Amino acid sequence: MVDLKSQYSHIKSAVDSAILSVIEKAEFINGPEVVSFQAELENYLGAKHVIPCANGTDALQIAMMALDLKPGDEVITPSFTYIATTEVIALLGLVPVFVDVDPKTFCIDPSKIEAAITSKTKVIVPVHLYGHSADMDPIMEIANKHNLVVIEDNAQAIGCEYTHQDGSVSKTGTIGHIGCTSFFPSKNLGCYGDGGAICTNDSKLADYIKKIANHGQSVKYYHDVVGCNSRLDSIQAAILRIKLPRLDAYCDARRKAADFYDSFFADVEGVSTPHRDKNSKHVFHQYTLTLEGIDRDSLNAFLATKDIPSMIYYPVPAHKQKMFESFGCENQELPITDWLTSRVLSLPMHTELEEDQLNYICSAVVEFINQ
Ligand SMILES: *Cc1c(COP(=O)(O)O)cnc(C)c1O
Repeated sequence: MVDLKSQYSHIKSAVDSAILSVIEKAEFINGPEVVSFQAELENYLGAKHVIPCANGTDALQIAMMALDLKPGDEVITPSFTYIATTEVIALLGLVPVFVDVDPKTFCIDPSKIEAAITSKTKVIVPVHLYGHSADMDPIMEIANKHNLVVIEDNAQAIGCEYTHQDGSVSKTGTIGHIGCTSFFPSKNLGCYGDGGAICTNDSKLADYIKKIANHGQSVKYYHDVVGCNSRLDSIQAAILRIKLPRLDAYCDARRKAADFYDSFFADVEGVSTPHRDKNSKHVFHQYTLTLEGIDRDSLNAFLATKDIPSMIYYPVPAHKQKMFESFGCENQELPITDWLTSRVLSLPMHTELEEDQLNYICSAVVEFINQ
């Protein structure tokens, strides 16, 4: 699905010397590389504050901890997402309230949010799934009207741009009150281990988030609140500093591969290619087909016989996961989520896809359909 080895081969000397330099200086934790990366990411995103942390799941957890919510408070989220988004809600004693997604963008459907709001609702967590932005303007409008906090799960969409109704452009992750991202190796900006970051334009909130991520202290050994230990390590920051200036080119390479897939499948019956909304500059963390009248699981197996990986993101939506049994949500009606769950198939997508590889993948898909 990804080819991190080839990507590394193009930046090997820079990465190798950056890692060595961290080791030689023995500045492993909170070193200057972390401080520089933080500033560079703030600049890239156009966000006032970035707080690096250990991974994307921690980023979401810390963001929610910073809101001082009460057990039983409700958080609105899509069910059609990676489990981390919803798991941290339950972990903090909060209640996930699932809202269906838009059939075209696969992101939370803003027109269905208000019906899910109760007196206990405190937060909305839109997920920019597969690299496509959720429709943020109507989400922010609803949040402002009901006095809710918006935490964007930007783990799959760093680099994506959202065009507002007034024509202005924002990077995803900087539109809500807090944005969370992941530097897991296969993410669009991936390090060589675990990493994550939180961003916000609210200085008070930024200080509090920083404190929570650092054992609840802002003065060493004086712990004001119960926090956690979540740090980006210096070696990962040094690698990310090399990859961040290449992120836009990496996104372009993904879009180019997506263009190839799009044109190959344009006239193939039963295959819908990913929608690109005019307000979202898709960064194709995944390239995901929706199949109609095609046996998805057999296609998945057929591609495997040709050494072509393909993946189902995600085979079980959050509301049907056993871990949420106690919320009694498994029979909730989320028709688009259920419809997508049985029809989506993601094809290989990364920065190093060559035309002959794309051709081989597409031809195999069409061969299966025509057989
Ligand atoms: C990857 C991912 C996360 C979690 O990031 P980790 O760094 O793996 O903890 C959260 N949300 C979404 C949508 C993701 O894809």
